Amino acid sequence: MTELSGPPRTLNPEQKKQLAAWVGYYRDLGVYDFYRREGEASWAASADDVAGAVANFPPEQELPPRKFKPPIEPEIAAIPETIVHITPPTGTAADILHSIREDLGDCMRCPLCETRNKIVFGDGDANAQVFFVGEGPGADEDAQGVPFVGRAGQLLNNMIAAMGLRRDQVYIANIVKCRPPQNRVPEPIEANTCSPFLLRQIAAVKPRMLVALGATAATYLMGGTKRALNSLRGQVHAAHGTNLVVTYHPAYLLRDPRQKSEAWKDLQLVMQHLGLNPPARPAS
Ligand code: URA
Repeated sequence: MTELSGPPRTLNPEQKKQLAAWVGYYRDLGVYDFYRREGEASWAASADDVAGAVANFPPEQELPPRKFKPPIEPEIAAIPETIVHITPPTGTAADILHSIREDLGDCMRCPLCETRNKIVFGDGDANAQVFFVGEGPGADEDAQGVPFVGRAGQLLNNMIAAMGLRRDQVYIANIVKCRPPQNRVPEPIEANTCSPFLLRQIAAVKPRMLVALGATAATYLMGGTKRALNSLRGQVHAAHGTNLVVTYHPAYLLRDPRQKSEAWKDLQLVMQHLGLNPPARPAS
């Protein structure tokens, strides 16, 4: 009989470390309940081991700073049999956002960590009705750690004001939280690694409307749709437990200002859906 033919009840320190990393990886994805399928494990953990791994979370603290390490691939066979309930974060939306930020930490989950300066987590009202999603930080955002603060951000501020809202009344985040080099489109591995945090932010804020700014945001918010941006505009989609409207990215509107009137139609659709009135024009 080999050592692996029956599930050991206690894990060695290396296995415990792997388990801790695995628990952390899944918690990052918003998975809080763990089960083990009996009989399929090449190695298996006891309830105490899992509880210990959970208590010692986050494992990232043990990793060397700012050096990319791919997340440890979770082994399905290692899923523990015992149900361990880790209480999901509770409290106000602001509290939950704070705990998501803490889980993100000094993120090294994808290669973008190697070239970024600041993580751009997200900004705005934790109870916002409207949640804007861009593609990824640019140079200004990377320097300041705040989304949409450059030229595209100024245009976005104007778009928000045209809707009769202040920037501090909406929430703004991106598909990826670190600047892609040369502002290139995020790679799927980067977007897929990062977007679980965005989805948790959306779940915390519970907006009545998501606004996808550009094709990258629309694609990832709509489950990897291959549909062209134009075919997604002009309608209210259902996504992530709320509504979603797709419009042009402000950077695109800076390059082709003729499309601003089209973007305004999209924002009017948002306003109509939420019952928002545009601000009254000052009397001339
Ligand atoms: N473009 C984006 O998509 N996001 C930002 O935060 C800034 C520019």
